[in-house]
Amino acid sequence: MEIRAVRGMHDLYGEELALWQWTENELRKVLSSFGFKEIRTPVLEQLSVFKETVGDETDIVEKQMYTIEKESETLVLRPEGTSGFIRAVLEHQLHRLPGTQRYYYYQPMFRHERPQKGRLRQFFQVGAEIINDSSPEADAELIALLDAIYKHFQITEYKVCINSVGCKDCRPQYKEKLKDYFRPHLASLCELCQKRFERSPLRILDCKRESCKALAEKAPVITNSLCSVCQGHHSKVRSRLKDAKVDFIDDPSIVRGLDYYSRTAFEFTSVLLGAQSALGGGGRYDELSTRFGAEPLPAVGFGLGMERLVMVLQEMKKHTPPKETPFVFLAPLGVEAFNHLFSIGIELKRVGISNEMVYDAEKGLKALLKAANRVEAAYAIVLGDDELKSGQFLLKDMKAGTQESLKLSHIKEELLGRRQRAS
Ligand code: AMP
Repeated sequence: MEIRAVRGMHDLYGEELALWQWTENELRKVLSSFGFKEIRTPVLEQLSVFKETVGDETDIVEKQMYTIEKESETLVLRPEGTSGFIRAVLEHQLHRLPGTQRYYYYQPMFRHERPQKGRLRQFFQVGAEIINDSSPEADAELIALLDAIYKHFQITEYKVCINSVGCKDCRPQYKEKLKDYFRPHLASLCELCQKRFERSPLRILDCKRESCKALAEKAPVITNSLCSVCQGHHSKVRSRLKDAKVDFIDDPSIVRGLDYYSRTAFEFTSVLLGAQSALGGGGRYDELSTRFGAEPLPAVGFGLGMERLVMVLQEMKKHTPPKETPFVFLAPLGVEAFNHLFSIGIELKRVGISNEMVYDAEKGLKALLKAANRVEAAYAIVLGDDELKSGQFLLKDMKAGTQESLKLSHIKEELLGRRQRAS
């Protein structure tokens, strides 16, 4: 039997992982300069956390969730971050803390989708959420943050599309208008959209099938049906984005896949990604908390796909994270030197000097220096019987090709000094 990773789930290692780690660090820098603090929630949540919030008829709840039955409980591997975040906020009363609060998470998500380029079954999302703030400025700040993230990585080929999906007061009327428009064309819609027609007609607007897309293009747009409060909010978000110098496009087809959004909805896409062009997206979801039986809680957030961000960075070939190589390679000649260098090696690691050694006392100098070159060590320490007798060691500068004889009792200080000068 061939043992493989689960389909649509990837191992990360080597250079690719180094790029991920560098990207993660950079992301944390941007998030922290925008004042966002990290929150971590469990991978498993109760089924109800998603069923009641994401929406019964969404693809996620209908067919994409990984569920686990255990001791009469149904648990779900989280398919998205916002529902679990709000569950945690309510559970720990974080919304009772005074003022606007900003949180971010960086976590794996699980969706049983058909895997393809940029679409996985386990993928990582960075999410940012602002709670306790119903102002359009909070929406604009969040969109500006996502924009700042891509700009930070010098990504230029992306589009920022924004829309408003109205609220519980104005959306029902728009839904009716939309149904009136689609009703005579029902037969031309794809099977899925025919199902969506009754209960989630807005979702027909973001169907990727050509026949549905052609019809959706001429459908009435929601921004013409907003109530005055939603209209005011939307126009303020737009003007704040202009103030913040974020270029955006009005796109009435942005309705987002999940049911819980109200007012602002947005998506960032890039042609560099191919068919799965969404880099990230989000929106306002003030009513989500009510599905947990709580009061409405002003909230706005986004989710950014890490695999897709890394794919764009790989495509650009601009960012090469520094290679991690050992500072020193230890080359003992003989058993006595081997014993000495083994303990010196551990001691050097303890004080932060990275080093490597081949655990084979039989190797000759030529093979050892070849290994030192292969791992790209800056220095090699050569210790043989003669050196041991005189209390010296040879320090070879691998790049310069020079070497000097130094006191064995000062080995730590010598290397610490050199490392300091090198950094
Ligand atoms: P969503 O929660 O569906 O709005 O997704 C937010 C972001 O996560 C998207 O814009 C993508 O960048 C990323 N994403 C969503 N689904 C997947 C997936 N199956 N595989 C990889 N990335 C994904």
